[in-house]
This record gives sequence, structure tokens and C-alpha cells, in this order.
Amino acid sequence: MEKANVLNKNSLRRYANNEELGTAPLMPQIGKKYHAPLAVIHRGDLQRILLDGVRAAGIELRTNSRVIRAADDFEANVQLESGEWISGDVVVAADGIKSELRHQIASHHGVTDTCQPTGDAAYRIMIPKDKMQGDQRALDLLNNNVGMRWMGPGGHIMAYPIKNNTVYNMVLLHPQKQGASNEESWTNKGDKQEMIEFYRNWDDLVQSLLSYVPEGDVMEWTLNSHFPLPSWVENKCVLMGDACHPMLPYVAQGAAQAIEDAGVLTCALSLTSSVPTALAVYESVRKERAERIQKSAAVTRKALHLPDGEEQRKRDEAIRGTGKNPDLWADPSWQDFMWGTDVMKDTIENWDDIVAHSHGYHPHAVQAVGY
Ligand SMILES: Cc1cc2nc3c(=O)[nH]c(=O)nc-3n(C[C@H](O)[C@H](O)[C@H](O)COP(=O)(O)OP(=O)(O)OC[C@H]3O[C@@H](n4cnc5c(N)ncnc54)[C@H](O)[C@@H]3O)c2cc1C
Repeated sequence: MEKANVLNKNSLRRYANNEELGTAPLMPQIGKKYHAPLAVIHRGDLQRILLDGVRAAGIELRTNSRVIRAADDFEANVQLESGEWISGDVVVAADGIKSELRHQIASHHGVTDTCQPTGDAAYRIMIPKDKMQGDQRALDLLNNNVGMRWMGPGGHIMAYPIKNNTVYNMVLLHPQKQGASNEESWTNKGDKQEMIEFYRNWDDLVQSLLSYVPEGDVMEWTLNSHFPLPSWVENKCVLMGDACHPMLPYVAQGAAQAIEDAGVLTCALSLTSSVPTALAVYESVRKERAERIQKSAAVTRKALHLPDGEEQRKRDEAIRGTGKNPDLWADPSWQDFMWGTDVMKDTIENWDDIVAHSHGYHPHAVQAVGY
């Protein structure tokens, strides 16, 4: 993992004075427990690794080819913006949070695909090492592979080094600006001064980090809650990743769950020549789990954004203690569920049972699942 940073712990901190309330061990403990390393990586580096894999496998990759619709009978045919139709054995729509096929499948099931603003937005910033020169506290953060989680009223910050400790990555959750657009976009710019203003009462360390961000390099992502769909599958078309379970970034699982989707679909398609069976198995294995994690993010949001007061003091005591951690990402029992489940192994080992179950699978039932 040349470009990934392996984190050794998560450090949960109070916003006002940087006091460490608790820690959640990550590597090597998590690796030993769940038999896989935990690492963080810049999304561009991950995409490059995936692209190299696609090229090595000799798969034809067409860029600049926007899909506008699937065929009305949801056979494996899609139409591109150019008007051209493309046919295959199966259509896997991994087209993200604004998925065209999600709208099409939802409306086929009589559902209007909507979302609800959470009232939060996320600044996304990356600080290059050369901007930190002379600030030893900032450089220590960059050089130590620790995930930092600062919690404050109405917001929190998650930060860690990436790119072999040459860039410090920060995601800063805060209330959405009044009148701001609800559009989710990777390219929306945020305002550096507004960001500094919101975090002005946070510890000096946070404030100095924010001051190092180059002007114009603040990105802002609006956070909306998306509701579970009645189904991820229609005939030979299937949804994957944010197209079917867009997640709020409070438990850092959106991309992780998209990768689990890909693993399970690969297993299913390689264990049967029947596309409908493979897609039914995929949905049966994935939908309930992904939606449970999707839902957990809202609980974590509340815990991380408490205003100063009695509830916040109780939360901080709980973090200092050894019981259930209010930050689910750091809670051992929730970690067992998130990281202790090998979805590909389970699919292979329990294949016959899952096939039998998935034929009677009623996707509506999963909406009642709690956490
Ligand atoms: C602020 C923030 C922080 C996050 N932090 C984490 C984290 O720490 N850990 C984690 O696991 N996840 C995290 N996530 C979530 C993660 O980024 C997403 O879950 C992940 O990118 C989803 O991957 P995807 O492939 O499903 O969709 P995307 O990454 O959105 O990719 C969709 C692709 O489809 C293409 N596309 C779209 N429409 C069409 C079309 N009509 N035709 C053809 N192509 C199309 C797009 O160009 C894009 O390339 C975070 C998200 C946000 C917003």
C-alpha cells in the first residue's frame, strides 16, 4: 500500500482546548482482530489503483460517455448522451449520488427518489507540508499516523495525514449556510473566511491549521439524508455504491461499503451463470447491512455535535470510560459489525442458503431494521 497511510489510533478531542477525551486503537490491534489493515488514502490515489486494475484486466474503458437511461424493460442496455445504445449481460450503475438509474429504478417502483437536507455541510481541505513549515505542532500531526476527531457545538473535524505524510487532510462538518444550495457536488467551492469564522472558538491548533489552506482551495459539500430504496435491482440492472446507499460521512463508510458491494457482486456473478440469481443474492447480502450503516451515521452526528452542557459532559464521560462509545466509529461492538464482517467470505460459504433466502427476499422489510 504505497500511498495509503496506516493509522495507529483515533484520538477523540474537545474542540475548545484540544483535550484528549479518549482514544480508539486502530493498527496493529484492528488488523490482528479483523485480519485486514486499516488505512486512509486520497481518493485520487485509490481511483488510480482501480484504474490500473481495469487496464491490467484488459477491460475497455470509455470516458466522456454519460449514460442517460436504461432500456424500459431493464434488460442490459443503456443509452449514452450521444444517442448510442450499449448492450451487455448486466448493467452495474455505480454512478454516484446523482445516479440516473436510481431515479429510473425508483420511479419504476412508484417511488419518488428524494432527499432531505441535514442542515450540515462539510468543508474539505488539504494542507501541503510546505505550508506548515515552522509550526512543530502541525508538523507532528502530519508525521504521526493518528486520526484526529475534534468535537464541538454544531460541528466536528476529522483529520489525518495522506500521501505518505506529505499532505494533511481535513473534513470539517459545520451548519450549512442559510440560503446555500442543497446540491451535492465534488466541485463546489467554500469560503475560507467563513470557515475560519465558524471555528474561531476552537483550539489554536485547529485555527492555525485552517490558516494554512491556500485561498481558493476550500471545497464544500452539502450533506443530505437519502432514504432507502424499495429495491436496488430491476431485471438485469443493479445499483452499487452511492447510487443506492449514499452515506453521511460520520462513520467514514461510503467508499468502504461501495467496495463491499463490488466484492459481493463479483462473488455472486462468478458463482452462478444466472444473472437474476446473482443480483438477488447481491441485494440480499448487501441491502440490509449497507442501510443499517447508512442509518448509524445520523446517530453519530448527534453525538459529535452536542452543544456545551449536561449532555455533552455525559458524552465526554462515556468517551473517557470503557462502556459503549457514543462515537460509533470508535465503539468496539459497532466496529465488530463494520469491520468484523467478511461479506465475500460469507457470500461464498453460505451460498446455498442465501440463494434459497433471496428468492423469497422482500426488500421492504429492511426498512424496519434498527441499530
Ligand atoms: C465530505 C465527504 C467525506 C467522505 N469521507 C469518507 C471516508 O472517510 N471514507 C469512506 O469510505 N467514504 C467517505 N465518503 C464517501 C465516499 O466519497 C463515497 O461513498 C464514494 O465516493 C462513493 O463511490 P461511488 O463509486 O459509489 O460514487 P462516486 O465516487 O460519486 O463515483 C461515481 C462515478 O460515476 C460517474 N457518473 C455519474 N453519473 C454518470 C452517468 N450518468 N454516466 C456515466 N458515469 C456517471 C461520475 O463521474 C463518477 O466518476 C465521504 C464523502 C464526503 C462527501
